[in-house]
Amino acid sequence: MNPFPSYSTVAESKLAGRYITNAHIEPLLSDYNHSIIGHSTSGLPIYRIRMGAGDTKVLMWSQMHGNESTTTKSLFDLLRLLDTKPDWLNQLQLSIIPILNPDGAKAYTRVNANQVDLNRDAIDLSQVESRVLRDEFDQFSPDFTFNLHDQRTIFGVDGMPATVSLLAPAFDLARNYNPCRTLAAQLASTIFEGLQPLIGPQIGRFDDHFNPNCVGDAFQSAGVPTLLIEAGHYPGDYGREKTREYVFYAYILSLQAIATTSFSELSIYHLIPENQKIFFDFLLRDVSFIENGSLQRGDIGLQFQEVLQNDSISFQAVFAAVGDLSHCYGHIEPNCEKLNRIDSKIDESAQNVLNTLDL
Ligand SMILES: [Zn+2]
Repeated sequence: MNPFPSYSTVAESKLAGRYITNAHIEPLLSDYNHSIIGHSTSGLPIYRIRMGAGDTKVLMWSQMHGNESTTTKSLFDLLRLLDTKPDWLNQLQLSIIPILNPDGAKAYTRVNANQVDLNRDAIDLSQVESRVLRDEFDQFSPDFTFNLHDQRTIFGVDGMPATVSLLAPAFDLARNYNPCRTLAAQLASTIFEGLQPLIGPQIGRFDDHFNPNCVGDAFQSAGVPTLLIEAGHYPGDYGREKTREYVFYAYILSLQAIATTSFSELSIYHLIPENQKIFFDFLLRDVSFIENGSLQRGDIGLQFQEVLQNDSISFQAVFAAVGDLSHCYGHIEPNCEKLNRIDSKIDESAQNVLNTLDL
């Protein structure tokens, strides 16, 4: 039995692909109770949407890293669902910031227009976008917060890509569990249990090394249960439309749990396998290549770089690693029998190599 609403009936059809900016979401905002809560470094509006009038307050923000748009698409799917007024919304009051870093979104960069990573600015609050989020946190006074990101295709668990990764960030160096962090971890447990029937082992747990400059760690330290959700790779889905659907389900699972105060056990959280950097976009096994002038035989990993071109994202392969990569995996592992030797130092040849393979 599928406990979720039919995804196709609520998916926001006006958003697709990896390039999501203010210009893409602005036509949708009039459907919701929205306002401008600040402006970015270069003066673009930062929008907030409010939904529900219940007692339990939930703050969610996405695209703090401008090129991480999957969770934003899922937020607009969620808004379409919330528009149908599901019962559990009665318990909740949501504050949603869909694009915290509109300059980074427009330029398709992780950082803001000052080249600052907003997720390393929680103490200094040196950037206007960081202060907008902190002000919303202070004024709205949420009971839970959701820190929403994309992760690179390099992450996997048990030889499978990590399509969704979860983290209840630490609040201290010893990475202890107090009631606040425990609740965040139980939220992750709830998602893990609910998503497993859909994507099996493709769920990872992120590294919980404490960094008080990270916003999730800072909010957890401030005593508000905070969950990090990372949207990752699903096989063949570089537009992250399948991943978007699973993140949407993750939102439903966690918001329903909050509304009904019914969470899975903390012990489940520790069963979620840790994310590992074990994937390349392409892994060419046992090929001849030239490195430092000498001919060698081994494996080559290629990774896509995402490049903004004409308002869409193109994927350009570059060499990422050579040598013995037998412990790694490729999202695509082509048959390399007919491949000539490769000069692994010349990035322009990476795409040429792929062109010669029968993909
Ligand atoms: Zn991120």
